[in-house]
Amino acid sequence: MSKVLVIGAGGVGSVAVHKMAMNPGIFSHITLASRRKAKCDAIAESVKARTGVVIDTAEVDADDVEATAALIARVQPKLVVHLALPYQDLSIMEACLKAGVDYLDTANYEPRDEAKFEYGWQWAYHDRFKEAGLMALLGSGFDPGVTSVFASYIKKHLLDRIDTLDILDCNGGDHGQHFATNFNPEINIREVTAPSRHWADGEWVEGPALSHKQVFDFEAVGEKNMYLMYHEELESLAKHYPEIKRIRFWMTFGDAYLKHLEVLQNVGMTRIDPVIYEGREIIPLQFLKAVLPEPSSLGPTTHGKTNIGDIATGEKDGEQKTVYVYNICDHEDAYEETGNQAVSYTTGVPAMIGAAMMLTGKWRGEGVFNMEQFDPDPFMDMLNDHGLPWQVKELDGPLQF
Ligand code: NDP
Repeated sequence: MSKVLVIGAGGVGSVAVHKMAMNPGIFSHITLASRRKAKCDAIAESVKARTGVVIDTAEVDADDVEATAALIARVQPKLVVHLALPYQDLSIMEACLKAGVDYLDTANYEPRDEAKFEYGWQWAYHDRFKEAGLMALLGSGFDPGVTSVFASYIKKHLLDRIDTLDILDCNGGDHGQHFATNFNPEINIREVTAPSRHWADGEWVEGPALSHKQVFDFEAVGEKNMYLMYHEELESLAKHYPEIKRIRFWMTFGDAYLKHLEVLQNVGMTRIDPVIYEGREIIPLQFLKAVLPEPSSLGPTTHGKTNIGDIATGEKDGEQKTVYVYNICDHEDAYEETGNQAVSYTTGVPAMIGAAMMLTGKWRGEGVFNMEQFDPDPFMDMLNDHGLPWQVKELDGPLQF
């Protein structure tokens, strides 16, 4: 029975809070805070209607360490679950240290003025969390998050040694809009337009964004084009599993999405440096976010499925073996249960499960940790029980590309 403070009232925050409310034995009291209280109140109403649970709401600017620490001191949670934006990772970690509370997030820190994703900034907090006897769990979404736990499950149960690991993220959903992103547009576009990078034989191999395409036949979705991309779990998996010779991340994109993105990039709308417009500075990508549909508004119109998983090749009992661990999630089912589409659902559910691991003491440590550092089994059990069941398939051999 524990009090939790969730920061961020977007699609992911909404799912996480609904799922927490469905598990009152673990989350005895929930406070949801965000930049705008009205958004928290709307989620609180939905939680009440769907589960009968009443949650508290509050307004906070999580860029402000003092204000966030003051809110934590007032609410007195055992854990802060950060589901706002990656820009706030460090300020919320600072506030947790100030208030003496554990921390969890779903995405690694990024500076606003540079599309650079790396764990270095957050790993640098390890000693401070350790000295304070506190725990920070990084990346408890789907990818990073579940894909990292799939990797540790494969290592624990399916392969004695992993040689290659491919993470495949397919969103086969259709939201009926000309162009929209399934999670925060600013973060999504920064990620997709970054150069591709994968880990091979102990070093990073970089290439132009979206330049390497392959076709893959995803169960329950069908054949899709997927593109080699950089994704943050590659960095932590390369660190924690040095035996893996090659780690790659692939994401599917439709032709219409890529065409829109190309035009937006060509006309300068994805720039993150300031430009002067009518006498004031604006960031084109932030302006673009303001005119695009909010991801949390896509739920009612989205149908289809997501299929995200890990394909690993390595050795088991002296024989080469390839295994595929994956989850299929249905957009309409996710919407019916929580009022949000599957991309928010597949992130919000693991955020709830990561929080449950910490609050029940199943995962415990002092310092800053990534998901693959803990026993995968209790997390995998909760995925099955809370809406993200997974499957294991043996493949004939490694991916031929
Ligand atoms: P949204 O943009 O929908 O929601 C973000 C929320 O945070 C909004 O309510 C926003 O407020 C609030 N917020 C923004 N800045 C502040 C601030 N300074 N102080 C307080 N609140 C603030 O994003 P999503 O819900 O789609 O995503 C949430 C997080 O999950 C992101 O970090 C994203 O990168 C991550 N993510 C991780 C995934 C994974 O698999 N690991 C996959 C998808 C997302 P307002 O409404 O006022 O703007």
